[in-house]
Amino acid sequence: MLPYGRQSISEDDVEAVSRVLRGDWLTTGPAVSSFEKRLSEWAGGAECVSVTSGTAALHVAYAACGVGPGDEVVTSPITFVATASGAMLHGARVVFADVDEDTALLDPDAAKAAVTTRTKVITAIDYAGQPADYDALRDVAEAGSALLLDDAAHSIGSTYQGEPIGSVADVTTFSFFPTKNLTTAEGGAVATTDPVIAKRARRFRNIGLVREREDLRHPDEGGWHQEVHALGLNYRLPDVLCALGEAQLRRLADFKARRARLVARYRELLADVDGVRLLRVRPDVDPVWHLFPVRIGDGRRRTVYDRMRAAGVGVQVNFIPVYRHPVFEDLGYRRGMCPNAEAFYAEELSLPLFPDLTDSDQDRVVDALVTALR
Ligand SMILES: *Cc1c(COP(=O)(O)O)cnc(C)c1O
Repeated sequence: MLPYGRQSISEDDVEAVSRVLRGDWLTTGPAVSSFEKRLSEWAGGAECVSVTSGTAALHVAYAACGVGPGDEVVTSPITFVATASGAMLHGARVVFADVDEDTALLDPDAAKAAVTTRTKVITAIDYAGQPADYDALRDVAEAGSALLLDDAAHSIGSTYQGEPIGSVADVTTFSFFPTKNLTTAEGGAVATTDPVIAKRARRFRNIGLVREREDLRHPDEGGWHQEVHALGLNYRLPDVLCALGEAQLRRLADFKARRARLVARYRELLADVDGVRLLRVRPDVDPVWHLFPVRIGDGRRRTVYDRMRAAGVGVQVNFIPVYRHPVFEDLGYRRGMCPNAEAFYAEELSLPLFPDLTDSDQDRVVDALVTALR
């Protein structure tokens, strides 16, 4: 089965990991800070805190924003469940605002209508790699005294109006799962230009431990002393995986170019295929394309999905509106609450896209799609 996404691992990547395995530091060592520094260069200079997954990054980011019981987080339902669950695990309530139907990105007007005095964070998702409408979202966040979070699981390496993703929102989260734009197997990061948020993120990632002498409540306990002021978890990304991440970052520009080339080619090959609609691309962004979503009309998405899978093409659906998960149903969220998201979900199909996809693989995908549509 041709997968919808997969990692690209080179001999240099293998070598970088082996070097760490032969060394002294498997975790909490120099490869962590080195990776975070390189990542920061891709994130417009924002401070980066590596963690064990994109899910952990969201959990850490919401903690660092001070999200807790009584707070609300406004977000889009066209995302992975962790965008919402990361806030709910801190006791917050999630309010879903609808998307723009042609981009599947959070609609700033819908977000504005969802903001209340309890809104602590507005979380946008850079769906498929395309940055959301941050100018408009920034205005909505400021008017509501809320922080702006970018779930950039799809978009490391993308730019918004020339600005690298990572420094556009107040806080940004990345994922390094194998299907994403670069991988550490499992992994993620939190990026922020706010030193207070960065410090809280570092502590939450490390069990809540405080070691800086000037911050200790009991500084004269002894050289071994460390304190917990607020609870955290162990979300540390080990050196072994940070080394892979740093090696992968050296290839990100090539990944970006190859993904762009494949997307341009898909757009050409599919331009005249009846029954297939493509995503609208915003004029002010330069995405690293993580997904290639198409829309299959006339209620035929399920048939096309089944036929393409049967033909060995591992198409995927991204995403089921988050509030349709039973855990949300049980909390009283109802289907249909975001009509544009529902309409998008009903038709969406993600075609295979990853750097090592060959042109002939791609021709096979397009043939399978055209055949499935007959
Ligand atoms: C993949 C993904 C995540 C979670 O990342 P993991 O590394 O798999 O935990 C969060 N948000 C979105 C939009 C994603 O696609």
